[in-house]
Amino acid sequence: MSLLPGILIANVAMALLAAVLMWRACRQDEDLRHARRRSDDLATRDPLTGLPNRGAFQARVANALSAGDGGVAILVMDVEEFKLVNDTHGHDAGDDLIRAMTDRISSCLGTEDVLTRLGGAEFAALVVGAPEVEDVTAKAREIDRAMTSPFGLGASFVQMNIDIGAAIAEGSGPEPVELLRRADVAMYVAKRAETAGCEVYSPGMDESLQLRRTISAELDAALSDNKLKLVYQPLVCARTGKVMSAEALMRWPGKEGLAGSPGVFIPIAEETGLITKLGEWALDQAVLEIKRQKTIPIAVNVSPLQFRVEGFADSVEAAVRRHGVDPRLLKIEITEGVLISHTEQAQLTMGRLREMGVQVLLDDFGTGYSSLSYLQKFEFDGLKIDRAFIHALEDGKNGQRLLQSIIALGHSLNMEVIAEGVETESQAAMLQLLRCDLLQGYALGRPDHADRLHVAVQERQQRLNAQRRAESA
Ligand code: C2E
Ligand code: CA
Ligand code: CA
Repeated sequence: MSLLPGILIANVAMALLAAVLMWRACRQDEDLRHARRRSDDLATRDPLTGLPNRGAFQARVANALSAGDGGVAILVMDVEEFKLVNDTHGHDAGDDLIRAMTDRISSCLGTEDVLTRLGGAEFAALVVGAPEVEDVTAKAREIDRAMTSPFGLGASFVQMNIDIGAAIAEGSGPEPVELLRRADVAMYVAKRAETAGCEVYSPGMDESLQLRRTISAELDAALSDNKLKLVYQPLVCARTGKVMSAEALMRWPGKEGLAGSPGVFIPIAEETGLITKLGEWALDQAVLEIKRQKTIPIAVNVSPLQFRVEGFADSVEAAVRRHGVDPRLLKIEITEGVLISHTEQAQLTMGRLREMGVQVLLDDFGTGYSSLSYLQKFEFDGLKIDRAFIHALEDGKNGQRLLQSIIALGHSLNMEVIAEGVETESQAAMLQLLRCDLLQGYALGRPDHADRLHVAVQERQQRLNAQRRAESA
Protein backbone atom coordinates (compact mmCIF):
# COMPACT_ATOMS: atom_id res chain seq x y z
CA MET A 1 0.00 0.00 0.00
CA SER A 2 2.75 2.37 0.93
CA LEU A 3 4.64 1.55 -2.28
CA LEU A 4 1.83 2.66 -4.62
CA PRO A 5 1.68 6.33 -3.72
CA GLY A 6 5.51 6.48 -3.94
CA ILE A 7 5.44 5.08 -7.53
CA LEU A 8 2.56 7.38 -8.36
CA ILE A 9 4.44 10.43 -7.08
CA ALA A 10 7.56 9.37 -8.97
CA ASN A 11 5.51 8.94 -12.20
CA VAL A 12 3.81 12.29 -11.79
CA ALA A 13 7.19 13.91 -11.10
CA MET A 14 8.66 12.23 -14.20
CA ALA A 15 5.71 13.36 -16.30
CA LEU A 16 6.05 16.86 -14.94
CA LEU A 17 9.78 16.91 -15.65
CA ALA A 18 9.16 15.63 -19.16
CA ALA A 19 6.51 18.29 -19.67
CA VAL A 20 8.86 21.02 -18.40
CA LEU A 21 11.66 19.72 -20.63
CA MET A 22 9.34 19.62 -23.61
CA TRP A 23 8.02 23.07 -22.83
CA ARG A 24 11.61 24.37 -22.55
CA ALA A 25 12.56 22.68 -25.81
CA CYS A 26 9.52 24.23 -27.47
CA ARG A 27 10.43 27.65 -25.99
CA GLN A 28 13.97 27.28 -27.30
CA ASP A 29 12.60 26.30 -30.69
CA GLU A 30 10.23 29.24 -30.61
CA ASP A 31 13.06 31.60 -29.52
CA LEU A 32 15.22 30.23 -32.29
CA ARG A 33 12.48 30.70 -34.84
CA HIS A 34 11.84 34.19 -33.52
CA ALA A 35 15.54 35.07 -33.68
CA ARG A 36 15.72 33.65 -37.19
CA ARG A 37 12.66 35.69 -38.20
CA ARG A 38 14.25 38.80 -36.68
CA SER A 39 17.54 38.26 -38.43
CA ASP A 40 15.66 37.55 -41.68
CA ASP A 41 13.77 40.78 -41.10
CA LEU A 42 16.97 42.68 -40.47
CA ALA A 43 18.45 41.25 -43.62
CA THR A 44 15.46 42.14 -45.77
CA ARG A 45 14.16 45.33 -44.19
CA ASP A 46 15.33 48.92 -44.07
CA PRO A 47 15.87 49.58 -40.33
CA LEU A 48 14.86 53.24 -40.59
CA THR A 49 11.50 52.81 -42.29
CA GLY A 50 10.73 49.10 -41.92
CA LEU A 51 10.27 48.91 -45.69
CA PRO A 52 11.57 45.91 -47.64
CA ASN A 53 15.15 46.62 -48.70
CA ARG A 54 16.42 46.72 -52.25
CA GLY A 55 17.07 42.94 -52.44
CA ALA A 56 13.63 42.03 -51.08
CA PHE A 57 12.07 44.60 -53.39
CA GLN A 58 13.77 43.13 -56.44
CA ALA A 59 12.56 39.67 -55.44
CA ARG A 60 8.98 41.03 -55.30
CA VAL A 61 9.44 42.65 -58.70
CA ALA A 62 10.73 39.34 -60.09
CA ASN A 63 7.66 37.55 -58.68
CA ALA A 64 5.29 40.11 -60.16
CA LEU A 65 7.01 39.84 -63.54
CA SER A 66 7.03 36.05 -63.55
CA ALA A 67 3.32 35.96 -62.70
CA GLY A 68 3.06 37.38 -66.23
CA ASP A 69 -0.21 39.21 -65.55
CA GLY A 70 1.21 42.39 -67.10
CA GLY A 71 0.56 45.79 -65.66
CA VAL A 72 3.85 45.91 -63.75
CA ALA A 73 5.56 49.27 -63.41
CA ILE A 74 8.31 50.74 -61.27
CA LEU A 75 8.40 54.30 -60.05
CA VAL A 76 11.68 55.80 -58.87
CA MET A 77 11.20 58.87 -56.69
CA ASP A 78 13.91 61.25 -55.59
CA VAL A 79 13.26 64.00 -53.09
CA GLU A 80 15.11 67.15 -54.14
CA GLU A 81 17.67 68.63 -51.79
CA PHE A 82 16.97 66.35 -48.89
CA LYS A 83 20.61 66.72 -47.79
CA LEU A 84 19.87 70.32 -46.92
CA VAL A 85 17.32 69.22 -44.30
CA ASN A 86 19.97 67.04 -42.69
CA ASP A 87 22.46 69.90 -42.81
CA THR A 88 20.11 72.52 -41.41
CA HIS A 89 17.85 70.57 -39.06
CA GLY A 90 20.13 67.68 -38.03
CA HIS A 91 20.09 63.96 -38.80
CA ASP A 92 17.31 63.07 -36.34
CA ALA A 93 14.98 65.51 -38.05
CA GLY A 94 16.12 64.08 -41.41
CA ASP A 95 15.21 60.56 -40.20
CA ASP A 96 11.79 61.77 -39.00
CA LEU A 97 11.20 63.37 -42.36
CA ILE A 98 12.10 60.16 -44.21
CA ARG A 99 9.60 58.21 -42.07
CA ALA A 100 6.92 60.84 -42.70
CA MET A 101 7.62 60.71 -46.44
CA THR A 102 7.42 56.91 -46.35
CA ASP A 103 3.95 57.16 -44.79
CA ARG A 104 2.75 59.64 -47.38
CA ILE A 105 4.00 57.63 -50.34
CA SER A 106 2.62 54.39 -48.86
CA SER A 107 -0.79 55.98 -48.45
CA CYS A 108 -0.92 56.50 -52.24
CA LEU A 109 -0.06 52.88 -53.05
CA GLY A 110 -2.35 49.86 -53.33
CA THR A 111 -2.20 46.81 -51.05
CA GLU A 112 -0.37 44.75 -53.69
CA ASP A 113 2.17 47.51 -54.41
CA VAL A 114 5.58 47.46 -52.71
CA LEU A 115 7.66 50.41 -51.59
CA THR A 116 11.40 50.43 -50.88
CA ARG A 117 14.00 53.02 -49.98
CA LEU A 118 16.98 52.97 -52.32
CA GLY A 119 19.06 55.24 -50.11
CA GLY A 120 18.90 58.78 -48.68
CA ALA A 121 15.54 60.14 -49.75
CA GLU A 122 15.24 58.03 -52.87
CA PHE A 123 12.40 55.56 -53.07
CA ALA A 124 11.16 52.99 -55.57
CA ALA A 125 7.69 51.53 -55.81
CA LEU A 126 6.49 48.43 -57.57
CA VAL A 127 3.06 49.23 -58.91
CA VAL A 128 0.90 46.36 -60.07
CA GLY A 129 -2.30 46.49 -62.07
CA ALA A 130 -1.20 49.68 -63.88
CA PRO A 131 -0.84 48.61 -67.49
CA GLU A 132 -1.10 51.98 -69.21
CA VAL A 133 1.04 55.10 -69.14
CA GLU A 134 -2.02 57.04 -67.92
CA ASP A 135 -2.41 54.78 -64.85
CA VAL A 136 1.23 55.16 -63.94
CA THR A 137 1.29 58.93 -64.38
CA ALA A 138 -1.96 59.27 -62.40
CA LYS A 139 -0.35 57.36 -59.50
CA ALA A 140 2.76 59.54 -59.79
CA ARG A 141 0.63 62.69 -59.71
CA GLU A 142 -1.07 61.46 -56.55
CA ILE A 143 2.31 60.87 -54.88
CA ASP A 144 3.59 64.24 -56.06
CA ARG A 145 0.53 65.97 -54.55
CA ALA A 146 0.94 64.12 -51.27
CA MET A 147 4.62 64.99 -51.04
CA THR A 148 4.47 68.67 -51.87
CA SER A 149 2.27 69.74 -48.97
CA PRO A 150 4.51 70.95 -46.12
CA PHE A 151 6.00 68.59 -43.53
CA GLY A 152 6.20 69.70 -39.92
CA LEU A 153 9.71 69.49 -38.48
CA GLY A 154 9.73 70.55 -34.86
CA ALA A 155 8.63 74.16 -34.83
CA SER A 156 9.15 74.71 -38.55
CA PHE A 157 7.79 73.42 -41.81
CA VAL A 158 9.65 72.23 -44.86
CA GLN A 159 8.34 71.80 -48.34
CA MET A 160 9.88 69.09 -50.46
CA ASN A 161 9.75 68.52 -54.19
CA ILE A 162 9.92 65.08 -55.70
CA ASP A 163 11.09 63.94 -59.13
CA ILE A 164 9.46 60.78 -60.41
CA GLY A 165 10.53 58.46 -63.23
CA ALA A 166 8.56 55.41 -64.31
CA ALA A 167 9.26 52.30 -66.37
CA ILE A 168 6.53 49.95 -67.51
CA ALA A 169 7.24 46.26 -68.07
CA GLU A 170 6.36 44.62 -71.35
CA GLY A 171 4.82 41.27 -70.44
CA SER A 172 7.29 39.46 -68.19
CA GLY A 173 10.34 41.51 -69.21
CA PRO A 174 12.81 43.04 -68.76
CA GLU A 175 14.75 41.81 -65.71
CA PRO A 176 13.97 43.64 -62.43
CA VAL A 177 17.39 45.33 -62.37
CA GLU A 178 16.90 46.66 -65.90
CA LEU A 179 13.37 47.85 -65.13
CA LEU A 180 14.71 49.72 -62.10
CA ARG A 181 17.50 51.24 -64.20
CA ARG A 182 14.99 52.46 -66.79
CA ALA A 183 12.85 54.10 -64.11
CA ASP A 184 16.02 55.72 -62.76
CA VAL A 185 16.91 57.11 -66.20
CA ALA A 186 13.38 58.51 -66.51
CA MET A 187 13.73 60.07 -63.05
CA TYR A 188 16.86 61.94 -64.22
CA VAL A 189 14.91 63.24 -67.19
CA ALA A 190 12.15 64.36 -64.80
CA LYS A 191 14.76 66.17 -62.69
CA ARG A 192 15.85 68.12 -65.73
CA ALA A 193 12.36 69.05 -66.86
CA GLU A 194 11.30 72.53 -65.87
CA THR A 195 7.80 71.50 -64.97
CA ALA A 196 7.08 69.13 -62.12
CA GLY A 197 5.69 65.69 -62.91
CA CYS A 198 6.54 62.19 -63.92
CA GLU A 199 8.53 61.02 -66.93
CA VAL A 200 7.94 57.57 -68.37
CA TYR A 201 11.01 55.80 -69.78
CA SER A 202 11.57 55.63 -73.52
CA PRO A 203 14.72 54.24 -75.22
CA GLY A 204 15.72 57.71 -76.50
CA MET A 205 16.32 58.78 -72.89
CA ASP A 206 19.35 56.48 -72.58
CA GLU A 207 21.12 58.24 -75.41
CA SER A 208 20.48 61.71 -74.05
CA LEU A 209 21.57 60.74 -70.53
CA GLN A 210 24.73 59.10 -71.86
CA LEU A 211 25.55 62.22 -73.86
CA ARG A 212 25.08 64.47 -70.83
CA ARG A 213 27.24 62.21 -68.67
CA THR A 214 29.98 62.27 -71.31
CA ILE A 215 29.83 66.07 -71.51
CA SER A 216 30.03 66.30 -67.73
CA ALA A 217 33.06 63.97 -67.61
CA GLU A 218 34.79 65.99 -70.36
CA LEU A 219 34.01 69.20 -68.51
CA ASP A 220 35.48 67.75 -65.32
CA ALA A 221 38.64 66.80 -67.23
CA ALA A 222 38.81 70.27 -68.83
CA LEU A 223 38.60 71.81 -65.36
CA SER A 224 41.39 69.57 -64.02
CA ASP A 225 43.56 70.30 -67.08
CA ASN A 226 43.10 74.03 -66.58
CA LYS A 227 41.36 74.35 -69.93
CA LEU A 228 38.43 76.51 -68.82
CA LYS A 229 38.60 80.26 -68.62
CA LEU A 230 36.61 83.27 -67.59
CA VAL A 231 35.83 86.19 -69.87
CA TYR A 232 34.60 89.56 -68.64
CA GLN A 233 31.82 91.77 -69.93
CA PRO A 234 31.71 95.44 -68.89
CA LEU A 235 28.75 97.05 -67.12
CA VAL A 236 28.55 100.70 -68.05
CA CYS A 237 26.98 103.66 -66.23
CA ALA A 238 23.93 104.69 -68.28
CA ARG A 239 24.51 108.37 -67.52
CA THR A 240 28.29 108.80 -67.86
CA GLY A 241 29.26 105.86 -70.06
CA LYS A 242 31.97 104.88 -67.57
CA VAL A 243 32.74 101.18 -66.99
CA MET A 244 31.60 100.54 -63.42
CA SER A 245 32.02 96.78 -63.07
CA ALA A 246 32.28 93.54 -65.06
CA GLU A 247 30.57 90.17 -65.11
CA ALA A 248 32.70 87.01 -65.25
CA LEU A 249 31.37 84.44 -67.71
CA MET A 250 32.71 80.95 -68.12
CA ARG A 251 34.13 79.67 -71.40
CA TRP A 252 35.19 76.20 -72.52
CA PRO A 253 37.65 76.83 -75.37
CA GLY A 254 38.15 73.88 -77.66
CA LYS A 255 34.74 72.38 -77.00
CA GLU A 256 32.93 72.57 -80.27
CA GLY A 257 29.22 72.68 -80.87
CA LEU A 258 26.40 73.71 -78.61
CA ALA A 259 27.86 71.90 -75.57
CA GLY A 260 30.67 74.48 -75.50
CA SER A 261 28.23 77.23 -74.51
CA PRO A 262 27.65 77.88 -70.78
CA GLY A 263 23.92 78.03 -71.46
CA VAL A 264 24.23 74.27 -72.21
CA PHE A 265 27.13 73.00 -70.08
CA ILE A 266 26.20 74.85 -66.88
CA PRO A 267 22.79 73.10 -66.58
CA ILE A 268 24.53 69.75 -67.26
CA ALA A 269 27.06 70.48 -64.51
CA GLU A 270 24.13 71.35 -62.23
CA GLU A 271 22.53 68.00 -62.95
CA THR A 272 25.64 65.97 -62.23
CA GLY A 273 26.73 68.02 -59.23
CA LEU A 274 29.94 69.14 -60.95
CA ILE A 275 28.74 72.73 -60.65
CA THR A 276 30.00 73.01 -57.07
CA LYS A 277 33.59 72.35 -58.17
CA LEU A 278 33.16 74.49 -61.28
CA GLY A 279 31.65 77.33 -59.26
CA GLU A 280 34.46 77.27 -56.71
CA TRP A 281 36.97 77.53 -59.53
CA ALA A 282 35.09 80.47 -61.11
CA LEU A 283 34.90 82.26 -57.77
CA ASP A 284 38.62 81.76 -57.16
CA GLN A 285 39.54 82.98 -60.66
CA ALA A 286 37.32 86.05 -60.40
CA VAL A 287 38.76 86.99 -57.00
CA LEU A 288 42.25 86.52 -58.45
CA GLU A 289 41.29 88.90 -61.26
CA ILE A 290 40.04 91.45 -58.72
CA LYS A 291 43.43 91.21 -57.03
CA ARG A 292 45.18 91.69 -60.37
CA GLN A 293 43.36 94.79 -61.57
CA LYS A 294 41.96 96.25 -58.30
CA THR A 295 39.88 98.86 -60.12
CA ILE A 296 36.33 97.73 -60.76
CA PRO A 297 34.13 95.20 -58.94
CA ILE A 298 33.64 91.84 -60.63
CA ALA A 299 30.43 89.83 -60.52
CA VAL A 300 30.43 86.01 -60.47
CA ASN A 301 27.42 83.85 -61.35
CA VAL A 302 26.56 81.37 -58.65
CA SER A 303 24.26 78.49 -59.39
CA PRO A 304 21.41 77.79 -56.93
CA LEU A 305 22.97 74.44 -56.02
CA GLN A 306 26.27 76.06 -55.13
CA PHE A 307 24.63 78.89 -53.20
CA ARG A 308 22.63 76.48 -51.05
CA VAL A 309 25.58 74.33 -50.05
CA GLU A 310 26.26 74.84 -46.37
CA GLY A 311 29.47 76.76 -46.01
CA PHE A 312 29.13 78.69 -49.28
CA ALA A 313 29.56 82.01 -47.46
CA ASP A 314 32.66 80.53 -45.76
CA SER A 315 34.16 79.58 -49.10
CA VAL A 316 33.60 83.14 -50.38
CA GLU A 317 35.24 84.53 -47.26
CA ALA A 318 38.15 82.10 -47.65
CA ALA A 319 38.68 83.09 -51.31
CA VAL A 320 38.63 86.80 -50.47
CA ARG A 321 41.11 86.24 -47.59
CA ARG A 322 43.33 83.92 -49.63
CA HIS A 323 43.89 86.56 -52.27
CA GLY A 324 43.74 89.51 -49.88
CA VAL A 325 41.13 91.51 -51.80
CA ASP A 326 38.51 94.00 -50.65
CA PRO A 327 35.21 92.02 -50.46
CA ARG A 328 33.36 95.13 -51.66
CA LEU A 329 34.91 94.50 -55.07
CA LEU A 330 33.12 91.16 -55.33
CA LYS A 331 29.53 90.74 -56.49
CA ILE A 332 27.53 87.53 -56.56
CA GLU A 333 24.76 87.03 -59.11
CA ILE A 334 22.00 84.62 -58.21
CA THR A 335 18.68 83.85 -59.84
CA GLU A 336 15.47 83.61 -57.89
CA GLY A 337 15.60 79.81 -58.21
CA VAL A 338 17.87 80.00 -55.16
CA LEU A 339 15.13 81.53 -53.09
CA ILE A 340 12.17 79.33 -53.90
CA SER A 341 12.92 76.55 -51.44
CA HIS A 342 15.04 76.54 -48.30
CA THR A 343 14.46 80.22 -47.80
CA GLU A 344 15.98 80.25 -44.33
CA GLN A 345 19.33 78.89 -45.48
CA ALA A 346 19.40 81.32 -48.43
CA GLN A 347 18.60 84.22 -46.11
CA LEU A 348 21.42 83.24 -43.76
CA THR A 349 23.91 82.98 -46.61
CA MET A 350 22.82 86.30 -48.07
CA GLY A 351 23.08 87.97 -44.68
CA ARG A 352 26.62 86.65 -44.21
CA LEU A 353 27.75 87.77 -47.67
CA ARG A 354 26.36 91.26 -47.25
CA GLU A 355 27.88 91.56 -43.78
CA MET A 356 31.24 90.81 -45.36
CA GLY A 357 30.61 93.62 -47.84
CA VAL A 358 30.02 91.32 -50.84
CA GLN A 359 27.16 92.60 -52.99
CA VAL A 360 24.39 90.29 -54.09
CA LEU A 361 22.51 90.86 -57.35
CA LEU A 362 19.27 89.27 -58.49
CA ASP A 363 19.94 87.97 -62.02
CA ASP A 364 17.50 87.41 -64.91
CA PHE A 365 14.74 89.36 -63.16
CA GLY A 366 11.40 88.86 -64.82
CA THR A 367 12.00 85.38 -66.26
CA GLY A 368 11.01 83.13 -63.38
CA TYR A 369 8.24 83.47 -60.86
CA SER A 370 9.33 87.06 -60.15
CA SER A 371 7.51 86.88 -56.87
CA LEU A 372 7.66 90.23 -55.19
CA SER A 373 7.73 88.47 -51.85
CA TYR A 374 11.38 87.55 -52.54
CA LEU A 375 12.22 91.20 -52.85
CA GLN A 376 10.57 91.77 -49.51
CA LYS A 377 12.34 88.86 -47.77
CA PHE A 378 15.79 89.36 -49.29
CA GLU A 379 17.76 92.55 -49.50
CA PHE A 380 19.52 92.67 -52.83
CA ASP A 381 22.06 95.28 -53.82
CA GLY A 382 21.03 95.19 -57.44
CA LEU A 383 18.44 93.94 -59.90
CA LYS A 384 19.42 92.71 -63.37
CA ILE A 385 16.52 92.99 -65.79
CA ASP A 386 16.49 90.12 -68.23
CA ARG A 387 17.22 90.93 -71.85
CA ALA A 388 13.74 89.88 -72.98
CA PHE A 389 12.40 93.13 -71.43
CA ILE A 390 15.10 95.20 -73.11
CA HIS A 391 14.22 93.74 -76.50
CA ALA A 392 10.56 94.45 -75.77
CA LEU A 393 11.46 98.18 -75.74
CA GLU A 394 11.02 98.14 -79.48
CA ASP A 395 7.49 96.75 -79.10
CA GLY A 396 6.03 100.15 -78.31
CA LYS A 397 4.67 101.85 -75.25
CA ASN A 398 3.83 98.76 -73.21
CA GLY A 399 7.41 97.53 -73.23
CA GLN A 400 8.58 100.95 -72.09
CA ARG A 401 5.98 101.22 -69.34
CA LEU A 402 6.86 97.80 -68.00
CA LEU A 403 10.55 98.65 -67.89
CA GLN A 404 9.82 101.96 -66.24
CA SER A 405 7.85 100.16 -63.50
CA ILE A 406 10.59 97.58 -62.91
CA ILE A 407 13.23 100.32 -62.68
CA ALA A 408 11.05 102.31 -60.24
CA LEU A 409 10.43 99.15 -58.19
CA GLY A 410 14.17 98.50 -57.95
CA HIS A 411 14.93 102.07 -56.94
CA SER A 412 12.18 102.11 -54.33
CA LEU A 413 13.91 99.14 -52.69
CA ASN A 414 17.31 100.86 -52.84
CA MET A 415 18.64 98.60 -55.54
CA GLU A 416 20.90 99.47 -58.40
CA VAL A 417 19.07 98.58 -61.62
CA ILE A 418 20.98 96.95 -64.46
CA ALA A 419 19.70 96.28 -67.98
CA GLU A 420 21.07 93.11 -69.60
CA GLY A 421 21.39 92.38 -73.32
CA VAL A 422 21.52 95.99 -74.53
CA GLU A 423 22.30 95.50 -78.20
CA THR A 424 21.65 98.89 -79.83
CA GLU A 425 22.51 102.52 -79.17
CA SER A 426 18.81 103.40 -79.25
CA GLN A 427 18.06 100.87 -76.49
CA ALA A 428 20.91 102.39 -74.47
CA ALA A 429 19.55 105.91 -74.98
CA MET A 430 16.03 104.85 -74.04
CA LEU A 431 17.26 103.10 -70.88
CA GLN A 432 19.16 106.21 -69.87
CA LEU A 433 15.93 108.21 -70.20
CA LEU A 434 14.14 105.62 -68.09
CA ARG A 435 16.79 106.19 -65.38
CA CYS A 436 18.28 102.72 -65.52
CA ASP A 437 21.60 102.78 -63.64
CA LEU A 438 23.86 100.35 -65.50
CA LEU A 439 23.84 98.87 -68.97
CA GLN A 440 25.32 95.57 -70.13
CA GLY A 441 25.23 94.16 -73.62
CA TYR A 442 26.90 93.92 -77.01
CA ALA A 443 26.30 97.65 -77.64
CA LEU A 444 28.55 98.46 -74.67
CA GLY A 445 31.10 95.65 -74.97
CA ARG A 446 31.20 91.92 -75.57
CA PRO A 447 32.57 89.44 -73.03
CA ASP A 448 36.33 89.34 -73.58
CA HIS A 449 39.64 88.29 -72.09
CA ALA A 450 40.54 90.09 -68.83
CA ASP A 451 43.43 92.04 -70.40
CA ARG A 452 41.23 93.32 -73.17
CA LEU A 453 38.58 94.35 -70.63
CA HIS A 454 41.21 96.46 -68.95
CA VAL A 455 42.16 98.09 -72.26
CA ALA A 456 38.48 98.62 -73.08
CA VAL A 457 37.91 100.32 -69.72
CA GLN A 458 40.81 102.70 -70.35
CA GLU A 459 39.86 103.40 -73.97
CA ARG A 460 36.29 104.11 -73.01
CA GLN A 461 37.48 106.47 -70.27
CA GLN A 462 39.77 108.32 -72.68
CA ARG A 463 36.94 108.63 -75.20
CA LEU A 464 34.60 110.02 -72.52
CA ASN A 465 37.23 112.51 -71.32
CA ALA A 466 37.84 113.71 -74.88
CA GLN A 467 34.08 114.02 -75.44
CA ARG A 468 33.70 116.03 -72.25
CA ARG A 469 36.60 118.33 -73.19
CA ALA A 470 35.06 118.89 -76.61
CA GLU A 471 31.67 119.67 -75.08
CA SER A 472 33.10 122.17 -72.61
CA ALA A 473 35.28 123.87 -75.28
P1 C2E B 1 23.70 85.28 -67.62
O1 C2E B 1 24.22 85.26 -66.24
O2 C2E B 1 22.37 85.91 -67.83
O3 C2E B 1 24.81 86.00 -68.50
C1 C2E B 1 24.54 86.87 -69.54
C2 C2E B 1 24.56 86.15 -70.85
O4 C2E B 1 24.13 87.02 -71.87
C3 C2E B 1 25.97 85.73 -71.28
O5 C2E B 1 25.81 84.52 -71.99
C4 C2E B 1 26.40 86.85 -72.19
O6 C2E B 1 27.43 86.46 -73.07
C5 C2E B 1 25.11 87.13 -72.90
N1 C2E B 1 25.04 88.49 -73.43
C6 C2E B 1 25.68 89.59 -73.01
N2 C2E B 1 25.31 90.67 -73.72
C7 C2E B 1 24.40 90.24 -74.62
C8 C2E B 1 23.63 90.90 -75.66
O7 C2E B 1 23.72 92.09 -75.88
N3 C2E B 1 22.77 90.12 -76.35
C9 C2E B 1 22.65 88.79 -76.14
N4 C2E B 1 21.81 88.10 -76.89
N5 C2E B 1 23.34 88.13 -75.17
C10 C2E B 1 24.21 88.86 -74.43
P2 C2E B 1 26.79 83.31 -71.79
O8 C2E B 1 28.18 83.78 -71.52
O9 C2E B 1 26.56 82.38 -72.92
O10 C2E B 1 26.24 82.65 -70.46
C11 C2E B 1 24.99 82.07 -70.41
C12 C2E B 1 24.58 81.76 -69.01
O11 C2E B 1 25.40 80.74 -68.45
C13 C2E B 1 24.72 82.94 -68.07
O12 C2E B 1 23.61 83.78 -68.21
C14 C2E B 1 24.77 82.24 -66.74
O13 C2E B 1 23.50 81.90 -66.32
C15 C2E B 1 25.52 80.97 -67.07
N6 C2E B 1 26.93 81.13 -66.70
C16 C2E B 1 27.97 81.66 -67.38
N7 C2E B 1 29.09 81.60 -66.65
C17 C2E B 1 28.76 81.05 -65.46
C18 C2E B 1 29.49 80.71 -64.25
O14 C2E B 1 30.68 80.97 -64.10
N8 C2E B 1 28.78 80.11 -63.25
C19 C2E B 1 27.45 79.85 -63.35
N9 C2E B 1 26.83 79.26 -62.32
N10 C2E B 1 26.75 80.17 -64.44
C20 C2E B 1 27.39 80.75 -65.49
CA1 CA C 1 24.56 86.73 -64.74
CA1 CA D 1 21.27 87.35 -66.67
